[in-house]
Amino acid sequence: MPLKHTFMKKLVSIGLLLFLLTACKHSVERKNEQTSDTDSKEVKETPDAKKPDSFYHYNIWLAFVNKIYDGTLSAKELKTKGDIALGSYNALDGELIMLDGVLYQITEDGIMHKPGDEAKIAYTNATFFESDQSFDLNAIPNYDSLRQRINRKLPTTNIFYAFKIHGKFNHMKCGGLHKQDKPYATGLDVLIPKRPVFERENVEGTMVGFYCPDLVGDISVPGYHLHFISDDEQFGGHVMEFNADHLSVALDHIWEYHFVLPQTDEYKKVTFEKAFQYKKK
Ligand SMILES: [Zn+2]
Repeated sequence: MPLKHTFMKKLVSIGLLLFLLTACKHSVERKNEQTSDTDSKEVKETPDAKKPDSFYHYNIWLAFVNKIYDGTLSAKELKTKGDIALGSYNALDGELIMLDGVLYQITEDGIMHKPGDEAKIAYTNATFFESDQSFDLNAIPNYDSLRQRINRKLPTTNIFYAFKIHGKFNHMKCGGLHKQDKPYATGLDVLIPKRPVFERENVEGTMVGFYCPDLVGDISVPGYHLHFISDDEQFGGHVMEFNADHLSVALDHIWEYHFVLPQTDEYKKVTFEKAFQYKKK
């Protein structure tokens, strides 16, 4: 009875398929249960539990160049992403620096502020700093010398690093940002050469920042990016140049990268037509 035989075979096949599907479904459900178990364990940790060795990155460099000067990240949220940071506030209202969990804002007049939890951030890099390597350097005539001497001590240039570099600076030259008004008309590449400049002699303080490998491309700033805060909390900004007799360098080796984009209409519409023109030394 070949017809019946084929029919039976089909029935068996359908039965087997249904069995397999049901088994798969259960397996997926079990996996989901396991995942949610893991998630709930993570949630149970204290909200400020430190997650070392992760680079938190909000917004992308190329969007910043294309006049995306507003983000949705608050100062309060940023403090859950790291205890050191650099970046800028919405409307480019000053340079952002965070040291040991204290957040600062250096406005275009060079005055230092401590913004409240509600302050909004346009761009930032942050991490919970844990020193993996430290060394002292003497007679540092300029920024370029620091870069070269740190480069020689890095185990690889293919990962991320965070820095805390403390010392007494004979001279410190910092850049600021001019606050922009909407609709934003000028890209960061045009604003940077015209940025306000703040200078101090004989100032003690900390440079905080990051090294990103070249592979970050248009997402972040490749190479070194440092911001400065004086010990007396009165002076700081984006490090442009300096000279120091002695610096204590601590660095955190970072192998993990957490990347977040701004959920704004401006970001949804941006076309990234403008490439960054300003070349760092
Ligand atoms: Zn900067």
